[in-house]
Amino acid sequence: MVFDVCIVGTGPGGLQSAALLSEKGIRPLVLDNRKRVTDSFCGELVGEKVLELAKIPKNSEFVSNKIIGARVINLDTGCSIDLPEKTTGDAYLLDENKFQTYLKDVAESNGAEFRFAERAESVIKRDGFVTGVRTAKASYDTPVTVGADGARSIVASTAQFPLEGFKAMPSFRFKLENCKGLDANCAHFYLSRKIGLGYLWLYPRSETECNVGIGSPFPNQMGLFLRKFVEEKAEFSSAKIIDRNGDRIPYTGLLPRFVDNGVVLVGNSAGQVSNLLGGGVEPTLTGATMASPVVMAALESQDYSAHQLASYEKGYRSSSTGKKVQATAKYLSKIIKFSQKRDVFSYLDDIFSIVDADKITKTVYGDFSVLFVLSLMVKHPGFVLRLLKDYYL
Ligand SMILES: Cc1cc2nc3c(=O)[nH]c(=O)nc-3n(C[C@H](O)[C@H](O)[C@H](O)COP(=O)(O)OP(=O)(O)OC[C@H]3O[C@@H](n4cnc5c(N)ncnc54)[C@H](O)[C@@H]3O)c2cc1C
Repeated sequence: MVFDVCIVGTGPGGLQSAALLSEKGIRPLVLDNRKRVTDSFCGELVGEKVLELAKIPKNSEFVSNKIIGARVINLDTGCSIDLPEKTTGDAYLLDENKFQTYLKDVAESNGAEFRFAERAESVIKRDGFVTGVRTAKASYDTPVTVGADGARSIVASTAQFPLEGFKAMPSFRFKLENCKGLDANCAHFYLSRKIGLGYLWLYPRSETECNVGIGSPFPNQMGLFLRKFVEEKAEFSSAKIIDRNGDRIPYTGLLPRFVDNGVVLVGNSAGQVSNLLGGGVEPTLTGATMASPVVMAALESQDYSAHQLASYEKGYRSSSTGKKVQATAKYLSKIIKFSQKRDVFSYLDDIFSIVDADKITKTVYGDFSVLFVLSLMVKHPGFVLRLLKDYYL
């Protein structure tokens, strides 16, 4: 059987690539080491852009809830800040299984072939080009390989992409049912010294069902913390855990290079995650959507060189999504650095009380406003001076 492209991974990046390429008459082979498409990981809290990219309507069976706002809570003190809808934008909770199955069905109906329980062991290289993928069962020769195999990408490592400095944080979550009195339209994010620099999240599906998860770059008994949170929260007194899973989420921004001769990376494998705010599904679907026409053009021209494929990487880096990924990675790295000399949690309640949530979100997304900083200095000179002194001295 001859395939045009080998896609490794059936997370959102691999599925979107398979759906878009097959729609245009390209025949992809899609490999995953997991047994079923619904075993693959897919985030669930997403913005409106994800629905547009995946071409699914807001009120369809693939969306299980609409989130109208968010609350960030300091678990150590009880202080909190509300992020209104204008700050979070329209957000939705996907039904992950239906969403993944839908993308697979689209690809399959257009001729993509899926092979599950087949782990890629290495890319095949000839004359400086990636020319396919080797698994324990077979070798597949394809002119282009799409590495959508997540944070521990075999495609990225065996194709020798630059991985120095690339880091991913462990994260996992429980799905709960039988909860009581949840605020069905508000996502909650919990911060605590005990979690460290990550956060715990609660995404409601309804008043009685939700997902709770936790992730941190410096995990310290995260599992115990999450379990204790579930045990102690009144709304969960008779709740039942119906599912649990987890994976790693990159947090150091885009790889220095994610295109090479005969190969492109999309999603987690390329570092396409906006970690401080947002998540990975939108940056991943954006990556797959931008890579697909470039892969098609390479196949049409039979030029599979890095030079030909480079427009994908160039376009991604200069897109608003690419800029957000880099801006949030930069802020997280600054916070990590700052936390090595100061207790960052000691500033939290002051920040909650004086900072406009909308402006701080825009700043973190890279839309830095001198006026915003000046107005903070005028209104709260003591706090701003303390922060600057502590940061720079
Ligand atoms: C607990 C948790 C919660 C999250 N919540 C959200 C959220 O709410 N919103 C959001 O936007 N993002 C969220 N994310 C992040 C989001 O899930 C990822 O960024 C997104 O799934 C990345 O998609 P991907 O296709 O690049 O990779 P992945 O989803 O990681 O998929 C990679 C696939 O490749 C397969 N694979 C790996 N190695 C091989 C191999 N050698 N051979 C064959 N197959 C292989 C894996 O089995 C997997 O199916 C969350 C992540 C975690 C861990």
